[in-house]
Amino acid sequence: MQTTKTSVIGAINMLGLAKRVKAKVFQASTSEVYGDPSVHPQPEEYWGNVNTIGPRSCYDEGKRCAETLFFDYHRQHGLQIKVVRIFNTYGPRMHHADGRVVSNFVMQALTGEPITIYGDGSQTRSFCYVDDLIEGFIRLMETGPEVTGPINIGNPDEFTIRELAEKTIAKTGARSELVERPLPQDDPKQRRPDITKAQAVLGWEPKVPLDEGHDHTIAYFRKRVGELDLV
Ligand code: UDP
Repeated sequence: MQTTKTSVIGAINMLGLAKRVKAKVFQASTSEVYGDPSVHPQPEEYWGNVNTIGPRSCYDEGKRCAETLFFDYHRQHGLQIKVVRIFNTYGPRMHHADGRVVSNFVMQALTGEPITIYGDGSQTRSFCYVDDLIEGFIRLMETGPEVTGPINIGNPDEFTIRELAEKTIAKTGARSELVERPLPQDDPKQRRPDITKAQAVLGWEPKVPLDEGHDHTIAYFRKRVGELDLV
């Protein structure tokens, strides 16, 4: 519930401020607006498939509503808006315990804990390295007022979660076993951005493949594990 409030009230506050000071305003939206997608890969024109009453809908619907507010302010007040839909992103400085799959797997591997695959691991995600994401943001902010988005920013290289677990083990040399845990309700079965628009409008595409970004991320967490005194 908190996430709906934060997304919607936060958006209203920032839109009001942007209107008063005549600023252009950036909305960090999300691939979650596509829900458990029945169109693959997901282009911006796809309206999505979100369960309104499920346990993750507070986040999804909060973000969907925030997008609506951004476009209402744009239409009614001529506000300059820049809406980006962020797909799964990873890299150094992620919080070690925020529960996301890349950080969970790397932390589990480095501390010798079992790697927790939710479901059978056949669901897919496409992982974007943080530096690529930021470059996409900067390019979007530098566009003229006619560019509002929404625009997908993500890496279209798609992996199953089991593949990610196996890569993590291979790269860290860990002896962790793979264990299956219950799949969270409404967990999207597949996700991959269609980045045609980002390529055409921003001249942007990701440069860092998972193999390389994963190495930087593992190096970061190795240091972090030492600092946190976890081994
Ligand atoms: N996941 C997993 N083990 C974990 C954490 C996540 O198998 O320890 C799965 C999760 O069920 C989902 C995928 O990895 O299918 C990505 O999860 P994450 O929370 O990183 O991102 P999102 O679900 O928002 O795409």
